[in-house]
Amino acid sequence: MSLPQNTLLSGKRGLIMGITNERSIAYEIAKQAAAAGAELCLTYAHEKLAPRLEPIAKELSASLCLTCDVSDDAAIEKTMADVKAAWGNIDFIVHAIAFAHKDELRGGITNTTREGFHLAMDVSAYSFLAVTKAALPLLNDGASLITLTYLGSNKVVPNYNIMGVAKAALESTTRYLAAELGPRNIRVNALSAGPINTLAARGIGGFNEMLAHHERTAPLRRLTTQEDVAGAALYFLSPLSQGVTGEVHYIDGGANTLGPTPAL
Ligand code: NAD
Repeated sequence: MSLPQNTLLSGKRGLIMGITNERSIAYEIAKQAAAAGAELCLTYAHEKLAPRLEPIAKELSASLCLTCDVSDDAAIEKTMADVKAAWGNIDFIVHAIAFAHKDELRGGITNTTREGFHLAMDVSAYSFLAVTKAALPLLNDGASLITLTYLGSNKVVPNYNIMGVAKAALESTTRYLAAELGPRNIRVNALSAGPINTLAARGIGGFNEMLAHHERTAPLRRLTTQEDVAGAALYFLSPLSQGVTGEVHYIDGGANTLGPTPAL
């Protein structure tokens, strides 16, 4: 579905962190945000992704396209310094980043190593806090920060394992950030998407079965799409949601509402 022309984000400048290709959830959010009038800075994990990201930045008319490995504080500081030099300030941040060892996203959670636990928590949860902290001096009154999460944070989903633990930490971080930054009129929310076939998701053991189960049982009886998530993101990034912070908002066709026996 393409949204009608809108100016929801006109005059706003924002960081979109976590595009790896056109299937990325962040790509669709960036596309919709640009169509709604936002000026964008795309950030991507490693220099070797540059040949893929530069054409995307051009397509979206992004004014900045920078590398930012969020496991590295110096890289985050450098990104914010570059953004400050170019723009001075920021109205929104989309954090759509997660990582865990593939072999720890299958079998049981006892497959998790100490190192794998730290890595997943660092990249998938702490990084939201680190990015927010570094961006604070640049955030405008009314700024909106969003991150991406999944139901595996509070329900046991086979194979999701350490990523579920990291998403629980991410959701809790969202609430604490919302409480701290609310008095500055900065909002912080998490969007919990249903399973979508992206590069990161394909690393989860049995992902195709997750998709099939979702399509069969979710109240809307269809898969969640990147467009579904981007539509909700526009609401959270724009003043339409000016009274909403600290929320975990589900965009999963109602799947999170089901009990152990799906409703007929
Ligand atoms: P994706 O693979 O397109 O995006 C994940 C991004 O994380 C990639 O761009 C990758 O480069 C980036 N990343 C990993 N390590 C990084 C690092 N150290 N520094 C900077 N960037 C790093 O997959 P996606 O599904 O679009 O994932 C985006 C977010 O959505 C993730 O947080 C994911 O957990 C979440 N999510 C995805 C689904 C799904 O089913 N696809 C469902 C719910 C939530």
